Amino acid sequence: MPAKNFKYKKSEYVRPSVQLSHVDLDLKIYDDRVVGRERLLLKPIKDISTVELDVQDLEIGDINLVDPEGMEIPLIWLYIKKENSLRIVLPREFKTSEEIVLEINAVCRPTDNILEGLYFDTTPPGAPPQIMSQCQQWGFQRIMPTVDDCTAKCTWKTRLEASNRYTHLISNGDVLRETNPDGVPVPLPDDPSRMAITYLNSIPMPPYLFIAAAGTWDVLADSVTTDLGREIRLEYLVPPGKIESAHIPMQITKDCVLWQSRHLSYEYERECYRTICMEKSNFGGMENAGNTTIITEAALIDDWTVDARLVYAHSVIIHEYEHNHCGGDVTMETPFDMWLNEAYTVTVERDYVREKFGFELIRLSEIDSIRAPLNGPLAMEEGGKTGRIVREGFNHPDDVVDGVTYVKAPEVLGMLRSLIGDEKYEKAISLYFTRYNGGNADTEDFLNCFRETADIDLNSFLHEWLFTAGYPELRGTYSYSPDKRRLVVAVSQLRHGRGRYFTIPFRISGVDAGGRVMESVNKLLVLDSEYSEFVFEDVPFEPEFLDWNSGEAFYGTFTDEIATRETLVKTVKFSPFIIGRVEAMRTLRDIAMKNMMDDLAPPSEFVKLFREILDDASLPDGIKASLLTISDEMLDRSFLPFTAERNAAARKLSSVVAKTCNEQLLDVFERVTVAPENEELASAIPRRSLCDVVSKLLAAAAGEREVEALVQYFEEGAAISDKLYAASAVNSTDSVIRHEIMNKLRDICKDHVAAYGGYLRVLASSPHNDVFEAITSEEKSADFRIEHPSHSRSLYGGMAVNNAQLWTTRGIDWAGETLLRLADINEYTALNVVSAFTFVLKMNEPLRSLVVDMLAELKRRVSAVRTPSLYSRISQILGN
Ligand SMILES: [Zn+2]
Repeated sequence: MPAKNFKYKKSEYVRPSVQLSHVDLDLKIYDDRVVGRERLLLKPIKDISTVELDVQDLEIGDINLVDPEGMEIPLIWLYIKKENSLRIVLPREFKTSEEIVLEINAVCRPTDNILEGLYFDTTPPGAPPQIMSQCQQWGFQRIMPTVDDCTAKCTWKTRLEASNRYTHLISNGDVLRETNPDGVPVPLPDDPSRMAITYLNSIPMPPYLFIAAAGTWDVLADSVTTDLGREIRLEYLVPPGKIESAHIPMQITKDCVLWQSRHLSYEYERECYRTICMEKSNFGGMENAGNTTIITEAALIDDWTVDARLVYAHSVIIHEYEHNHCGGDVTMETPFDMWLNEAYTVTVERDYVREKFGFELIRLSEIDSIRAPLNGPLAMEEGGKTGRIVREGFNHPDDVVDGVTYVKAPEVLGMLRSLIGDEKYEKAISLYFTRYNGGNADTEDFLNCFRETADIDLNSFLHEWLFTAGYPELRGTYSYSPDKRRLVVAVSQLRHGRGRYFTIPFRISGVDAGGRVMESVNKLLVLDSEYSEFVFEDVPFEPEFLDWNSGEAFYGTFTDEIATRETLVKTVKFSPFIIGRVEAMRTLRDIAMKNMMDDLAPPSEFVKLFREILDDASLPDGIKASLLTISDEMLDRSFLPFTAERNAAARKLSSVVAKTCNEQLLDVFERVTVAPENEELASAIPRRSLCDVVSKLLAAAAGEREVEALVQYFEEGAAISDKLYAASAVNSTDSVIRHEIMNKLRDICKDHVAAYGGYLRVLASSPHNDVFEAITSEEKSADFRIEHPSHSRSLYGGMAVNNAQLWTTRGIDWAGETLLRLADINEYTALNVVSAFTFVLKMNEPLRSLVVDMLAELKRRVSAVRTPSLYSRISQILGN
């Protein structure tokens, strides 16, 4: 996207003309509004006679200048709504040496669906309205006028006043003991129905990390002492009655604190680290300097937590905790530098969850997220959305919260780590955190730490990967000469996106007939041109096959040009590189999928191999699940636009394979659906993922015995994920029992936000055409709330990947109507749904015209002002 199309451009970013040094804030919370008064201490960076503050959707009251004697001088101001700007006229020019004290009154009105600034979260039964805040990036300006900039790091004194029916009033910092000696809110002397609490935050903090919350929670309190003897109080604030569900996450939090301190020598500076459950958020969590908010469905772990959320809970807890360090201690300079905050934090998160759940399984899910057809960064780039990590601009700061920032950027950081080695990487990171501790740092500051530490020139690596869009399409081949005992490996790169060739660290390993890595062929190479040959000398015999960098950081695509079906089968069977095995199986699956599209039988070796994998007792469950997965995703990205065709092929292939192996499938199913006693989470999750894969195949076989086995699994499976996998499989068959199973599933799930989300996804994934009636009926039920991001994300996001029904006339009509309704309620979810249509212009007719008409009509009806990101996304998809 050309830079001129952005509302906010990096080239136009200017540092504010005032530096905020302290905020003295008073927020009076009522059921329908929050009345705010603040004193801002500002230092002019240049001589000024007006102050410009950021403000959005506030009712502005009196604004005064407070002179050194405490006298208040009323000021004239102008609120330019279109620019979200408040221009305050000072009575005279102020010099850089002076301090300006402004007192500002304003009122904000929280809503149910604008999840920025202060908003209404889900209120527990009988409690006063639950108020939550989300300030990143520009949410604070929806609470009070401010300098809403990452560099506005200042100290804070915050008083919150609200009804005494709340259990908690939360903000950043420590409780001021003069006003609140017991550390809790005290009743107002003149109105005992209300109470107040004041927090002092003496560690400078930018407005995007601010939190104000008034809510009703139960608390699980604990503490952890690091190896250095530092004691940190831990609080976990959960919905009333949910304390039991906080015990496991509390253990994870403790483990994270210790892990961080041992692995990264990071010590948390505040007395208390608080985790707060929130229900409604477009994101999984938000750091808020010592007051992490996490969506309830990931923050609580109990019988209703689905497996994907169990892993995610570990990720989000470590992620948000790390942000105290990366983000809090060292803060990005502008939203354009957010990539580095997230790239580093995600890298830490990946290291942690790999340790907890095993490297291979987590790495496979990372690879999946690179390739994800809807919102993966490769798909975004192929769909014409920019893939530049350091952005030139955006329409809304949330636009930066995407696959490029959270998936591509950490992958690039991973390649940088491979390139310079672990030791230099850690040195550079430690230099960064030492040098900028307490301040701000931008992209160049971050990169300079690497440039200074590495002993190679990094400029070309950094330039192509960070400042241009695109990715390399690699192809590899080799030749072996027995006379010269020489292996020549040739790798070429086709560059997608404009620029020079990428610099790519790439490990090549030869594998012998015994499945061992050959010492003579095992090296990290660096490819930095269109074509390179790498010579390995003294190689005693030809490798059976090569492993091409599997398991290492890499962003792009790779094709093994010398692979034959025979060598791929060998790779699947005995490569010592587990990820290489899965990739080889996926390549074979691609061949089978293409056969299906051409109405041919799948290659016989694919079916044979499938049976062998089913029987192989040595394979861990999670890896077996990955090897046996048949889905409509393909490695060959030229098939990306042909979603309906891929889906039909995958269903056909599943059915052929399942019918051939049904006895074996039933045998495996009988064994794998039984949970061993005292099973650890790290074994239960991969075991159940195998149950899921086998369930889908049994459903594809669609015989009576298979349905019976699935129904039994539904009835007897102990975990909520068992129920969801079983119901999803039954619901995809033609059996009449599917409605009954779905009703039972609904009853089990409806009262638990995580489980209900799981149910909605199962409902939306049905391949039957009654899925539309099912969605409509769910929308009308008392349990479903369209403004609840988890509800809408699950139901509509689920339907957006239902490739069996979305690509029908009804499916496309459904999308048009739903997107229109959703646009003004939750633009973020609408963006997710509209991604399904990214490749419309490359689709076959008649689908292409149907979708283009739907999107063109939608573009006419959505507002470019209220929903700029959605509007520009539709324009971009339509190529206009
Ligand atoms: Zn983050």
